[in-house]
Amino acid sequence: MKLGLNGLGHQVGTCRFGTDPKSSVLDLDCKAHDLDNLYVVDGSFLVSSAAVNPTLTIIAKALRVGDHLLERLRARTADSADEEAGPALARGSVSAELMMAR
Ligand SMILES: Cc1cc2nc3c(=O)[nH]c(=O)nc-3n(C[C@H](O)[C@H](O)[C@H](O)COP(=O)(O)OP(=O)(O)OC[C@H]3O[C@@H](n4cnc5c(N)ncnc54)[C@H](O)[C@@H]3O)c2cc1C
Repeated sequence: MKLGLNGLGHQVGTCRFGTDPKSSVLDLDCKAHDLDNLYVVDGSFLVSSAAVNPTLTIIAKALRVGDHLLERLRARTADSADEEAGPALARGSVSAELMMAR
C-alpha cells in the first residue's frame, strides 16, 4: 500500500511507555526504566498512533513530566502548583483530560 504524506505525520511508539520493562522503554512518568536520569518527552512515548492528531496529548504529557520533575527535585509541590495556576488551570487536571493512556 502506498502511503501519502498524511501516513507519515504521526510517528509514535519508538520509546513507548508502560509499567513492564519487557514491553516498554519508559515508565509512566516517561523516565527510562533502566536509567534514573533520562526522560523522553516527545511523541515517542505514545504506544500507538491514534485516529486523531497527537500534538496536544504530547504537549500535555510533556507538561505533566515537567511537573513531575519539579516535584522530584523538590522545586515545587503539587499543592503549590495548584495554588499558582488555580484549580481550573492546574496542569495535572488538563493532562488527565488529554491523556488517552495512563
Ligand atoms: C505534515 C505533517 C502534518 C501534521 N499535522 C498535524 C496536525 O495538524 N495536528 C497534530 O496534532 N499533529 C500534526 N502532525 C504531527 C505532529 O507534528 C507531531 O506528532 C509532533 O510534532 C511530534 O512532536 P515531537 O516533539 O515528538 O517531535 P518534533 O515536533 O519532530 O520535534 C523534534 C525536534 O527535535 C529536533 N531534533 C532532531 N534531532 C535533533 C538533534 N540531534 N539535536 C537537536 N535537536 C534535534 C528537531 O529539529 C525538532 O525540532 C503533523 C505532522 C506532519 C509531518
